[in-house]
Amino acid sequence: MSCLFCRIASGEIPADIVWQDDALIAFRDIAPQAPTHILLITRDHHVTVGELATADPALAATFMSAVAAVAAQEGLSDYRLVFNSGAEAGQSVFHVHGHLLAGRPLSWPPG
Ligand code: 5GP
Ligand code: ZN
Repeated sequence: MSCLFCRIASGEIPADIVWQDDALIAFRDIAPQAPTHILLITRDHHVTVGELATADPALAATFMSAVAAVAAQEGLSDYRLVFNSGAEAGQSVFHVHGHLLAGRPLSWPPG
């Protein structure tokens, strides 16, 4: 298994997991870009958020509910959810993940 986030999902590579259920896992980013920087991933391998939404719309909807659950657990009222989709958009790990960023003012537009 070569996909980094599949290896985290299987437990082969350790991560600071903050929330999980049978389909999704949230863990802290190894290089946080804000005081709170959590990655939410599917346990199953999907490449991008668009591919996930096409292949498994029910899981994509569940993913959004999980974002809300993680934000509530972390006590976040203000946060940014980012999906980098494709290399030009900044995606470096090709297993779908939402970045949950919070804890400092976030500028717009992003770089
Ligand atoms: P992307 O650039 O694909 O949108 O985001 C990938 C994210 O994964 C980056 O923010 C990066 O810091 C994070 N990351 C890369 N390798 C690891 C790892 O081994 N563990 C954790 N927790 N995060 C990682
Ligand atoms: Zn994967």
